Amino acid sequence: YGARHRAEKLAVFAGALDSDNAQRLTLMNDLRRAIDSDELLLMFQPKLRMHARQVSGVEALVRWKHPERGLLGPDQFIGFAENAGLITRLTYWVLAAAVRESHAWHGAGHAVPIAINLSSHDIRDRQLFEQISRALETWGGAPDWIQFELTESCIMEDLSIARQVLTQLREAGFKLFIDDFGTGYSSLAYLRHLPVDYIKIDQSFVKDLDSDRESAAIVEAIIKLAHSLGIAVVAEGVESVSTMEMLSNWGCEEAQGYCISKPISGRDFQSWNKAFV
Ligand code: C2E
Ligand code: MG
Ligand code: MG
Ligand code: MG
Repeated sequence: YGARHRAEKLAVFAGALDSDNAQRLTLMNDLRRAIDSDELLLMFQPKLRMHARQVSGVEALVRWKHPERGLLGPDQFIGFAENAGLITRLTYWVLAAAVRESHAWHGAGHAVPIAINLSSHDIRDRQLFEQISRALETWGGAPDWIQFELTESCIMEDLSIARQVLTQLREAGFKLFIDDFGTGYSSLAYLRHLPVDYIKIDQSFVKDLDSDRESAAIVEAIIKLAHSLGIAVVAEGVESVSTMEMLSNWGCEEAQGYCISKPISGRDFQSWNKAFV
């Protein structure tokens, strides 16, 4: 009985593995198709310059309109795209879509920069810079059309490559953001040598700012530190007016979060922006 039972268990296990692999393969083909067809779409979430009450830019957040699984968020496929070697193509798609959108917005009087999230694979992509230039050329765009966000952990994964890429992008005139700041690394000394314009404080510290004294202390300290290094600050995940007021009192320049706007379609952003002013 024991041996048979074990064999059955093994068979079940192997079957599960097979179906895992099969699923992965299907998902990979699906994603490859999605990038080439129009199954991906961008949503845009505004960032607010608090003291001027001005929209400073938007962040492009990718979604996948999967024919069977419905609308998928980036957390459901970005990691997979990275492992499957598809992230570079996905980034090119995002880049092209964002610049095309920006062209439409400029034509309609919305000169608002669009920030794009880069993954750690992208900074090792030798063709990234050329792809960016080409996307802008296609639509007659300039470096103030798009901005780039890199997570703190992506930068720390390979600090020297990150610094090279950041330097090249910044010298070309692009604004740069360190995303999810506060989650990636315990020492802040590395910030001194990074050519960035903004840090974005991770939403885990911001969310409960108005009710949690430890979060408040951390956020206030991060803002001070950034300013002492000549770096401006965006808080992400701002969900209440009281949080926004605290941030503003501490001199935090910009805020982004559900309290201002959820991510919305490009068309909705244009009406939102018109109504906002
Ligand atoms: P992120 O860049 O830190 O983006 C912020 C995420 O927080 C977004 O989730 C946004 O919808 C959500 N968010 C914004 N404001 C609030 C708020 O007030 N409260 C709460 N609870 N959440 C808020 P989303 O769109 O699911 O994106 C998740 C992550 O996926 C992003 O984190 C980013 O790292 C990654 N991502 C999104 N688009 C792309 C892309 O085109 N390329 C790459 N490589 N990564 C992307
Ligand atoms: Mg981001
Ligand atoms: Mg973030
Ligand atoms: Mg995040």
